[in-house]
Amino acid sequence: MPELPEVEVVRRGLAKTLTGKSFDYTRLSNWKKLPDLARVADKPVLGVSRYGKNLFIDLGKYYLVSHLGMSGFYFKTDSLKGIKHGHLAVKYANKKWLVYCDPRRFGNFKLVKKRLVPEIAKERITEGVDHLMLGPDALVGFFNNRKAAILLAERFEENSPKMAVKTALLDQTCISGIGNIYASEILFRAAISPFKPIGELTAKQIAKLADFIPRVMLAAIESKGTTIKGANKYRTVGGKTGSFTNLLEAYGRDGQVCIRCKALGKKAPKIKRVVQNQRATYYCPRCQK
Ligand SMILES: [Zn+2]
Repeated sequence: MPELPEVEVVRRGLAKTLTGKSFDYTRLSNWKKLPDLARVADKPVLGVSRYGKNLFIDLGKYYLVSHLGMSGFYFKTDSLKGIKHGHLAVKYANKKWLVYCDPRRFGNFKLVKKRLVPEIAKERITEGVDHLMLGPDALVGFFNNRKAAILLAERFEENSPKMAVKTALLDQTCISGIGNIYASEILFRAAISPFKPIGELTAKQIAKLADFIPRVMLAAIESKGTTIKGANKYRTVGGKTGSFTNLLEAYGRDGQVCIRCKALGKKAPKIKRVVQNQRATYYCPRCQK
């Protein structure tokens, strides 16, 4: 599933392609999740913003909110012939379209009146469920280090102290934008066990987490996100794969030695993979405490 870094890279591609153009769209399927777009036909696209994993295409009075779900992606094409799983095409130049495809159809679109979504309340636009309050954005909401640690401690206090820290990181109402790949990466880099209950995290560990959350997000955005063979088919709007895959230190590295323990010169243990809450978790059994 595309997580914050992938969605941010897609946002930049959409903004570059659509901003200043009129919203000249064609439906490519009768997918029910695509709202009636007649109200925004040919309206100018003023920009594209993001909150967590949600994209906001600014169409003046309305935002078209797009969530990529498990397998949604946008790409540019010169022809609308033979597109599999295509749902929406937006013409951005002569014989050039931006197409939304979603083979598994877990993605989501909403047309929302802008005045109902003041900047501060974007978090009320949801991951498919109405009025679910999303937590602070894992990038923008964590820019200030000292404040971020306080914010994170507050978010954790609102949940059960017994909740495992990895589960808390995946909970979009706690923090918005982190998914399964980056949760393992953030916890590995912060040297925190994914199973540690949030109520038992020390202040130092929370500060470390607050530091690594935006750092991992930024590093992944710089690499244009993570594309995993077979697991996700994520591509940028320009059709490129994400190369953060090469920088993963824990996710997908089960059976390989822990690079941190190895750097310390110890006989390094191997990265383990376990299923935690129905999701794969990767961690080092020695140095993540
Ligand atoms: Zn280790």
